[in-house]
Amino acid sequence: MAAAAFMIRDGDIPGGNIMILEAGRVMGGSLDGAGDPASGYSMRGGRMLTTDNYECTWDLYRSIPSLNNPGKTVFEETIEFNERHKSNSMARLVDSRRAKVPVASMGFSMQDRVELLKLSETAEDGLGASCITDWLSTGFFQTPFWHMWATTFAFQPWHSAAEFRRYLHRFILEFSRIETLAGVKRTIYNQYDSLVLPLQKWLEAHGVRLLADCTVTDIDYRTDDDLLAVTGIRCRHQGKMEAIAVNSGDIVIVQNASMTDASSLGSMASAPKKLTKLDSGGWCLWEKLAEGRPEFGDPRAFNGNIAQSCWESFTVTLRNPAFFDGMYRFTGNEAGTGGLVTFKDSNWLMSIVLAHQPHFLNQPDDVQVFWGYALFPDRVGNYVPKPMDECNGEEILRELCGHLRFDLGVVESANCIPCRMPYITSMFMPRMPGDRPPPVPHGSGNLAFVSQFVEIPDDVVFTVEYSVRAAQMAVYELLGMDRAIPPVTPHDKSLSAEFQAVIKAFK
Ligand SMILES: Cc1cc2nc3c(=O)[nH]c(=O)nc-3n(C[C@H](O)[C@H](O)[C@H](O)COP(=O)(O)OP(=O)(O)OC[C@H]3O[C@@H](n4cnc5c(N)ncnc54)[C@H](O)[C@@H]3O)c2cc1C
Repeated sequence: MAAAAFMIRDGDIPGGNIMILEAGRVMGGSLDGAGDPASGYSMRGGRMLTTDNYECTWDLYRSIPSLNNPGKTVFEETIEFNERHKSNSMARLVDSRRAKVPVASMGFSMQDRVELLKLSETAEDGLGASCITDWLSTGFFQTPFWHMWATTFAFQPWHSAAEFRRYLHRFILEFSRIETLAGVKRTIYNQYDSLVLPLQKWLEAHGVRLLADCTVTDIDYRTDDDLLAVTGIRCRHQGKMEAIAVNSGDIVIVQNASMTDASSLGSMASAPKKLTKLDSGGWCLWEKLAEGRPEFGDPRAFNGNIAQSCWESFTVTLRNPAFFDGMYRFTGNEAGTGGLVTFKDSNWLMSIVLAHQPHFLNQPDDVQVFWGYALFPDRVGNYVPKPMDECNGEEILRELCGHLRFDLGVVESANCIPCRMPYITSMFMPRMPGDRPPPVPHGSGNLAFVSQFVEIPDDVVFTVEYSVRAAQMAVYELLGMDRAIPPVTPHDKSLSAEFQAVIKAFK
């Protein structure tokens, strides 16, 4: 959708010439959010954004009108909302005694500092497919810094050292405010209502055709003078196989995989089904295209180990303010000002976020919704003797109330919908250069890739920004546009010559 918007806004392509084929029933992919008070609300994720980064995202949303604030853009309404509701977490980490952990200090030892510096100053091509644990010792993973950083950004010790290093540089401003999350910006509602819907409406108003329930299964191409040209798209639209011709001068932008592929929802009474890419087919297209074509990357680097890339989230719909009131008394944060509360000693490594209410456009005043997640769903809980991925919503609420020492009565009428995401951190898996294709792969005439699995120098995955940047790069390059893409802001002064001289002396 971002690519379509850049084509219209910057490439002067008429919207009527653009078609989006989407496998799901609604647009927006991972930025989903749906439901009602009766059946319960559900969203796979809740996003933290910043205005110090996210250059391409805000560049896009400076052009998209708000649906609810006439005369304003989505960017303007989001900025104004964040001026009114500033993040200032007062209970970022909670321990097993339900005590708020002091987080003013990162808790680094001298060894941690030296190792962190060494990792952050090693050039990326020197890191190969190493893991974070190859660079940092055991003690580092016990520091408040790791507990906050890992649960803010969903890192695991076995994830890519190269990606972790990129995060240290890209989000360096977060170091000094990670304990309060003061740098985090939120959308007014969930991201489907606040980001997807306005963009979709804008695209529709420009005549873009959006086809849901349409899975692209293959593409046809020919090679002219070593330049690959897509000539057709094969897709399954509402159960029927169809072929779409790609004519000379057309461009094709392919989504090569998704972090929420094979995700599944449970209910108060049942755990989510354990699906894999074989059930969903979401990785299939990239696997097919990359077969025998190293310039299209290697999906196996990312999708081969669910045990290392899976976690679960859950969305809770309440009809009784007791839970929100109890959280306010405990944390000191009104909903929408606190950000993540992480139960750092919990076996599941569970966190919850109480966003500003209402969080859904159609949410009545007497209903509250919050979201949470746990990074170790394969471990037995502290209060429920089961791994989280075998638990239904009722059991997840029981575990949560255990950590909070809340009486179960506060969630008596709650509806908790769990969501299992087997590839949620697949883009953090250790990778080698070349495992991700650039948005426009070498030798491509009219084909580009967009997703979290393309290579964009210096930018970081698991962000909306990465996908929007990929879309902007793909469009500008394929259309041969002479227009600058907003650069990754160089907040990190450690890259300066002076700093490098200090590091050299230190080594
Ligand atoms: C739990 C969670 C928390 C997150 N937290 C944050 C955060 O705090 N901050 C942040 O910036 N980002 C966050 N993200 C990441 C962000 O949401 C994603 O990076 C971004 O939404 C990915 O967008 P995308 O369009 O590349 O891919 P997706 O959103 O994954 O969309 C891909 C779409 O392509 C479709 N598709 C795939 N293959 C085919 C095919 N063959 N044919 C037709 N359609 C196909 C899929 O159905 C899907 O709709 C989070 C994501 C999740 C899930």
